[in-house]
Amino acid sequence: MGFFDRKAKCSVCGKETGLNRYRIADKRWVCPSCFELAGFTKVKPLDKPIQKMTAIEIQEIIEKNGEFDQEIGPEANKRTTALLRSAKKQLSDEKIMYWVYGVYKTKSLGNDTIRNGLFIATERQIFFYAERFTGFETESFPFSNISSLEIGKGLTGHKINIIASGNKSEMYGINYGQVDQFVEYARSKIGKSSSTPFAPVSVDVAEQLRKYKSLLDDGIINEEEFIAKKLELLKL
Ligand SMILES: [Zn+2]
Repeated sequence: MGFFDRKAKCSVCGKETGLNRYRIADKRWVCPSCFELAGFTKVKPLDKPIQKMTAIEIQEIIEKNGEFDQEIGPEANKRTTALLRSAKKQLSDEKIMYWVYGVYKTKSLGNDTIRNGLFIATERQIFFYAERFTGFETESFPFSNISSLEIGKGLTGHKINIIASGNKSEMYGINYGQVDQFVEYARSKIGKSSSTPFAPVSVDVAEQLRKYKSLLDDGIINEEEFIAKKLELLKL
């Protein structure tokens, strides 16, 4: 086998690969797709620990990454996957059940702080995670401290409020993630781990009322039907 063989076999998937392959330990190669599946990028060509890794080690990383992709679901894009991966490191062995990505607003020292980040529901908490210019920022809301979870929808996306220990934390502009499952799951956990009675707050009441009002105005439903709907929505 010459040094510049045009073709070589990928030591991980076994497929034939061209010159765009990557050198690994024991003078073996991996193909570009296995390279990427293992989480390596071409962006930092000088930082390539893959050259010291064996085919078996790379295979193991790919399998782990596959499990992680399943854990976070198909809603994650490249950016949210990378963020979820960093968040997972702070969660140690807690499994990511559901997640959403949006703009997080919380009060600290009397001021509103705003961050783009994740709400992650695990089996015991809602975990906020955001990357900072250097490092990261987290906040934990154990289900046992959460008294209610409100959901709504605004112009910029979905909105979730967490009421925990008397404080309200809000995430709005949620356009990525698994909003419905997240809320449903979190509410089921609050119900289980909290002894205080919990009344779920209905979704978009005002918005729905407006919709029914316009149906009434357009003559699609009558006054009686509108009032019935209104009473139902407002739980009167
Ligand atoms: Zn391969």
